[in-house]
Amino acid sequence: MWRDLLPVGRDSGTGGYRRYAWTPADADCRAWFRDQAAARALTYEVDRNGNQWAWLGDPAAGDAVVTGSHLDSVPDGGAFDGPLGVISSFAALDELRARGATPTRPLAIVNFTDEEGARFGVACAGSRLTAGRLTPEHARQLRDADGVTLAAAMEKAGQDPEAIGADPERLARIGAFVELHVEQGRALDLSGDAVGVASAIWPHGRWRFDFAGEANHAGTTRLDDRRDPMLTYANTVLAARKKARLAGALATFGKVAVEPNGVNAIASLVRGWLDSRAADEATLADLVAAIEQAATERGARDGVAVTVVRESFTPVVEFAHDLRDRLTALLGGAATVPVLPTGAGHDAGILAAAVPTAMLFVRNPTGVSHSPAESAAEDDCVAGVTALADVLEGLACS
Ligand SMILES: [Zn+2]
Repeated sequence: MWRDLLPVGRDSGTGGYRRYAWTPADADCRAWFRDQAAARALTYEVDRNGNQWAWLGDPAAGDAVVTGSHLDSVPDGGAFDGPLGVISSFAALDELRARGATPTRPLAIVNFTDEEGARFGVACAGSRLTAGRLTPEHARQLRDADGVTLAAAMEKAGQDPEAIGADPERLARIGAFVELHVEQGRALDLSGDAVGVASAIWPHGRWRFDFAGEANHAGTTRLDDRRDPMLTYANTVLAARKKARLAGALATFGKVAVEPNGVNAIASLVRGWLDSRAADEATLADLVAAIEQAATERGARDGVAVTVVRESFTPVVEFAHDLRDRLTALLGGAATVPVLPTGAGHDAGILAAAVPTAMLFVRNPTGVSHSPAESAAEDDCVAGVTALADVLEGLACS
């Protein structure tokens, strides 16, 4: 499976992946998923929001055990974030069949569309729509960097944008959802474990900071006469870092747009996107407020107007305790498998509000993720498949 999937959407220069929702690379990933389903004689379907499903057993029977992840990527993403969960799901199903395990509940593998939000700016769009956490009206008018709406992109890819929206009937069929994912940190590496069980996802969000100044000539405008938003932006980046460190939280400006973006022009507008996460929502709210205050105060000195728009927010997710405990027990008990929180968002986090949901993490030896350097050892990936098969057997075959 890796052999087929690895070349899809890979940038030959960086080795990173560019598998954005509803692009040709995404279509290739989706065709791969459909082929994997067909090769196993699973019932294949695409739901109203474009998520792909492969069913073993009757979807309508209810109380299904579902596993899976996503196949899209961030700009220059790694090979494992997303695909490891989907590939492991198919491999775990193969393992169940090899064991001769007979499912007593329907089993399904899912590929949630547009998890990273790399193209249209909203993470987990496929699962959010399904769970009713993103309205169809809002989703359809989301635009990519070229001004293409999500509706137009879906239509071009052969998916009806008018059909998108909440899908409670589909969610009601699911008795448990388990997502396996490469760890996006070093907790397992530090504890010396190949596989762990998730406890919670930190609350996180994205905020757009607009710093509006005045465009002018870089060679003739006296320093004192400038209203340079780049200064305010730079100061805000430093303030965010310091305040996050003091709060024991995370704050990152990883994306910036500059107008007019000329070497010899003072910028008229700098637009920076803040990604921030913390262990609890109060800490996160205080941190973002403090960063906004620092930006506004510096802006007043620079003659720059600062406006902040929250583009997305995901509350803290506590995974279902009984399912989490069940997974831990199936994997040998709390003494053998660590239970850990994560700062990364996942479709499992969105689904957790509607269905009992759990996650498995596979060790990432460097902790690096959202980068071509993301890695996982083959032995650890195999351990992940075995763990997922143990979980699916325990949940669906007993
Ligand atoms: Zn992911």
